Amino acid sequence: SGSYLADTIEKPKANKWTNNFDAESLRGAKVLVTGSSKGIGEQMAYHYARFGAKIVITARSKDTLQKVVEKCLSLGAQEAFYIAADMSNEADLDRVVDFALKKLGGLDYLVLNHIGSTRVAMWDGDVEHAKWLMKINFFSYIQMAWKALPSLEKNKGSLVIVSSLAGKMPSPLTAPYVSTKSALNGFFGSLRHELAMKKSNVSISVCTLGLIDTETAMSKVKGKVNMPAYPATEAALNIIITGATRQPELFYPWFTYIWTLTKDWIPSFTDYVVQRSYNYNP
Ligand code: NDP
Repeated sequence: SGSYLADTIEKPKANKWTNNFDAESLRGAKVLVTGSSKGIGEQMAYHYARFGAKIVITARSKDTLQKVVEKCLSLGAQEAFYIAADMSNEADLDRVVDFALKKLGGLDYLVLNHIGSTRVAMWDGDVEHAKWLMKINFFSYIQMAWKALPSLEKNKGSLVIVSSLAGKMPSPLTAPYVSTKSALNGFFGSLRHELAMKKSNVSISVCTLGLIDTETAMSKVKGKVNMPAYPATEAALNIIITGATRQPELFYPWFTYIWTLTKDWIPSFTDYVVQRSYNYNP
């Protein structure tokens, strides 16, 4: 409800996005969130639940999903279901979307958020890993988006892509990950043009996130980066609001936007600061 947003302790600062946000619009909304057993996806599931949405969550670990579904129901989700699936397995992709379409009777939001596990380390030439990661972080996104598009079109729905500053500018020690996020930004930027040219009903939101304090991210960057991490619950709420208000982009935290400007205006300074943000001790 409106009061949930007003009361939430992690309320984002008022800005052009939050001002237009009508929390009521999410009551009964039909939502599929991927990668929602932990991290930002789990927090998104809880926010959608508090707004009274109908949600399907998915990840590989069934036990964790079951617990998240129970919590969603206790928080106020009108309906909550889970389906265990592996996004590196092609057959699972349509299966997940079909499950959500069937259980919820259509989709208003497809929130693509999952990622495969990758190392924070110098590129070591492991092309097989890069291909595997591309499958999970990129190819599964474009397949699921296409599969959900007819229902989203029917419902004036939204596609929400959880990307990263890595999709806007390369960072070191994560070359395969950077590639997958750049691919997402390119693909969904192109698709957004096409939907506009077709006068489609569907909005696409691409979310640029900086470092977020999820367990996975914190354990991977430990001792390797010098930069502040922002709260997953607030990142999750900002993503949801961006989708609900049909904004093309989110920058969270806000200064990720500054990086996208300085990288072209003052590239050598940007490179210097980026490289100094990582601890490299050969
Ligand atoms: P987490 O590692 O916390 O969560 C990842 C989710 O994806 C889990 O639910 C995991 O569940 C699921 N997952 C992993 N592998 C697979 C697979 N093969 N098939 C299906 N599901 C899978 O990630 P974060 O919350 O940190 O990140 C979420 C999103 O935010 C990502 O798109 C990430 O790129 C983006 N982002 C995060 C940042 C950060 O600092 N945290 C920074 C910038 C962007 P399970 O293992 O059970 O399958």
